[in-house]
Amino acid sequence: MQTLQTKLLILGGGPGGYVAAIRAGQLGIQTTLVEGQALGGTCLNIGCIPSKALIHAASEYARAQAQASGDSPLGIRVQKPTLDVAQTIAWKDGIVQRLTGGVGALLKRQKVQVVQGWAHILDGKTVEVRDAQGQAMQRIQCEHLLLANGSQPVELPMLPFDGQRIISSTEALSPQQLPKTLIVVGGGYIGLELGITYRKLGVAVSVVEAAPRILPAYDAELTRPVQARLEKLGIALYLNHQVVGPASGKTTGVDIRPAGDANAKPTTLKAEQVLVAVGRKPRTEGYGLDGLQLNMKGRAVQIDEQCRTSMRNVWAIGDITGEPMLAHRAMAQGEMVAEIIAGKTRRFEPAQIPAVCFTDPEVVSVGLSPEEAKAADHEVLSAQFPFAANGRAMTLEDSEGFIRVVARKDTHRILGWQAVGGHVAELAAAFSQSIEMGARLEDVGHTIHAHPSLGEAIQETALRALGQALHV
Ligand code: FAD
Ligand code: NAD
Repeated sequence: MQTLQTKLLILGGGPGGYVAAIRAGQLGIQTTLVEGQALGGTCLNIGCIPSKALIHAASEYARAQAQASGDSPLGIRVQKPTLDVAQTIAWKDGIVQRLTGGVGALLKRQKVQVVQGWAHILDGKTVEVRDAQGQAMQRIQCEHLLLANGSQPVELPMLPFDGQRIISSTEALSPQQLPKTLIVVGGGYIGLELGITYRKLGVAVSVVEAAPRILPAYDAELTRPVQARLEKLGIALYLNHQVVGPASGKTTGVDIRPAGDANAKPTTLKAEQVLVAVGRKPRTEGYGLDGLQLNMKGRAVQIDEQCRTSMRNVWAIGDITGEPMLAHRAMAQGEMVAEIIAGKTRRFEPAQIPAVCFTDPEVVSVGLSPEEAKAADHEVLSAQFPFAANGRAMTLEDSEGFIRVVARKDTHRILGWQAVGGHVAELAAAFSQSIEMGARLEDVGHTIHAHPSLGEAIQETALRALGQALHV
């Protein structure tokens, strides 16, 4: 069997692995990347990008429907819209293909050798690449091994995925036809992004969430407008409920009962499909990783602030290293590891990692919330500015929600931003930059922001924290 020698060997071509490879290539490091499925990983193929494409398509369809029903305050009237699901999915697939093709081209430009196949780890410096049937094709020896194997959906033991009736986000993002009814188990990121999408596409959706409120990772005030929108959209919410198992009898669906009450009589929810979205777990099994006996942190590979594992010259980045499982964190870690291997001094010590949930309305959290800041012993100033007082939001017909800032009371240094509202994902860049640059409330409040724009609400929030808001 052929043995390939390389300086850096990367397992996985997701945002972590492919960014590490591009940067390593730029820095002149001989790099090989092994990918078993498709370049772009979860994010580009079955995650961030396809979900955002379908979220957009569903919103357009819902808007056209509202216009057709004579509901448009803008005076737009259209005939009853129809939906060609196959065309919608083809459009989404086209975006995915353009992006994954682009990743392939970028890797080629940086002379990264891409090997298609499944990597099986033999030791910390040797990997065997196998085909889908487990047949060995090639051996690769390296100086540095970078684990970027990503994550996979958590399966509920009583509700195993079958790809048709009990599905994960992967199938939900490529439906051949839409079900009439859908139960979503898990009211977190995936459950709500896709639950809202399916509802807007005309599916009757129920969400079962074990916690007492939706999106438990965000604070309650931020998620309230999302919950109100779910109710307005007619999504049935079963908070504080857990799935007991598949629906009893011949019905398709699930039996649920109040969380923590094992004696309660289960209620049966019927639906054609059940989307299980109760989290993702690092992908650590089935490819010889256990043989390295790395230190683990729960299910995740433990890393230090340079993404080094407990074995010399074995590195790990992205979802395989646990929360927060976000594409931009994986990319930042990948870039850093390439630079360290090239001899640069780097540490992964971001002042913030933005979290954005693309629900309707969108939710953003960057840095510390008021509670987190207080828990970290900061005396804080905090203020909110409502989009109802922002002209641009009104012209976009989307003026629900608010921006909140959290700053140190003594120095006015900004510690955190949160926002809920239409298009707030696009404000995350300004939030992140102000925190990374150590901005004070005055820096943001006294910056001239373009008018009319949603960005003015950022400025007004900072001014309000200083007691100087002009438009509220
Ligand atoms: P992955 O993207 O999972 O890539 C790992 C790659 O490694 C895969 O391609 C896999 O095939 C390959 N691989 C694994 N083992 C082997 C092996 N032994 N040999 C060869 N190849 C192997 N994050 C955001 O920041 N924003 C979002 O909007 C967002 N939306 C999401 C929506 C959905 C529906 C899902 C599921 C996830 C979403 N995420 C989002 C999370 C994001 O996709 C992940 O955080 C990101 O993809 C992690 O990147 P990664 O490189 O660590 O792993
Ligand atoms: P999640 O952790 O966001 O949400 C899972 C939800 O399921 C939680 O609210 C949890 O309380 C609930 N839950 C757990 N067990 C349950 C049970 N037995 N019955 C009912 N509810 C239960 O996980 P997810 O939505 O599967 O997403 C996985 C990860 O993918 C996210 O944590 C995030 O890292 C990433 N992601 C990010 C984005 C984004 O950045 N916009 C979008 C999608 C996914």
